[in-house]
Amino acid sequence: MTNCLVIGAGIVGMTTALKLAENGKNVTILDCKNKGQASNNAGGILFPLSPWNDSKFMQELCISGHDEYNKLFLRLSGDKKKSINFTKSNILIFGKNLISASKWYRNNNFVEIEYNDGRISNKEENIITNHKEFITIKDINLVDPRKLSEFLHKELKNKNASFIQMKVEDLNLFLKQPENNKYDYIIVSAGAWSNEVLNDKKVFLKPIKGQTMLFRTNKKIISNTLLFDDLYIIPRGDNKFLIGSTLEDVGFDESISNEAKSIFDHALSKLFSPSIKILEKEYFFGFRPFANQKPYICKSKNNERVIYNFGHYRYGILTAIASAKIVDSMVS
Ligand SMILES: Cc1cc2nc3c(=O)[nH]c(=O)nc-3n(C[C@H](O)[C@H](O)[C@H](O)COP(=O)(O)OP(=O)(O)OC[C@H]3O[C@@H](n4cnc5c(N)ncnc54)[C@H](O)[C@@H]3O)c2cc1C
Repeated sequence: MTNCLVIGAGIVGMTTALKLAENGKNVTILDCKNKGQASNNAGGILFPLSPWNDSKFMQELCISGHDEYNKLFLRLSGDKKKSINFTKSNILIFGKNLISASKWYRNNNFVEIEYNDGRISNKEENIITNHKEFITIKDINLVDPRKLSEFLHKELKNKNASFIQMKVEDLNLFLKQPENNKYDYIIVSAGAWSNEVLNDKKVFLKPIKGQTMLFRTNKKIISNTLLFDDLYIIPRGDNKFLIGSTLEDVGFDESISNEAKSIFDHALSKLFSPSIKILEKEYFFGFRPFANQKPYICKSKNNERVIYNFGHYRYGILTAIASAKIVDSMVS
């Protein structure tokens, strides 16, 4: 039986591990539990939000990622969908990215899109801002990323995959240890930390920190997901909403910044009337793996047993299944 080791138990790593296990591979997943793991701190929008900034490869991966989740939505039982908060939502886009968004979604005809020239408050009555044009994208997929992680973990356990808590400091040294000869393939999916594992000078990868705020209000403020300027708000149920997210080139800085807090407070005060009261706030952060617009999903040039699967930046949840399929095709 083919033995695969997946380094990194984020959503990219676990989705890949599950695909390999489903196809009969013996899978081990190794993770050191880093604090800024991107997957647990993501928004969970399974839809490309500003893909026009990305490479053609990434754009296509996002579109096939969207298709893969549509298929998964049909395949999963109601209970399983509920367990990961897998739902459909409309997304309303307004603000500074409206023109780029309209053009891109029109040219890439894979979703139903409606152009609206009325006020956004006609669709969402609690919004007070005066945007007169917006687009509605119908039936995008949403998931709760923490719950998806738990789900993947459980599915992997059911497939007899092994989990080991361990940090791989240097993959070359790791592979020199005789007990690691048993692995036929090693898939590196350590997110923003992947090149700490590999130390490959040809790889360009850095963390781009994102902060979000989960807040609870005195009443339901929106029914749809909103995307405006560079922020989104996602309804999470029980009058809870997630606003995010910042894009910060600050290395692995783990602090919750006052700047992020004021970006969120300012956006909410511009969008909603003062009668909306915020009752609770909780902040999160994660490190997106940024690889200059194109993820590394390929075999290593230095070692044919090693496969790269990282650098998914803002779309790792969306593209996890599509990426897993590419990796699976490289494993015999
Ligand atoms: C605020 C925010 C919002 C986002 N929203 C969305 C969204 O709505 N939709 C979407 O598709 N994407 C979103 N993203 C992007 C998405 O979260 C990432 O692209 C994706 O989670 C990357 O997954 P990953 O598994 O590659 O990395 P991670 O989730 O970061 O996992 C990497 C894992 O590798 C482990 N690891 C690291 N180093 C080592 C080592 N040396 N040895 C062993 N293990 C190691 C870590 O502990 C970690 O568990 C968002 C990201 C952020 C930060």
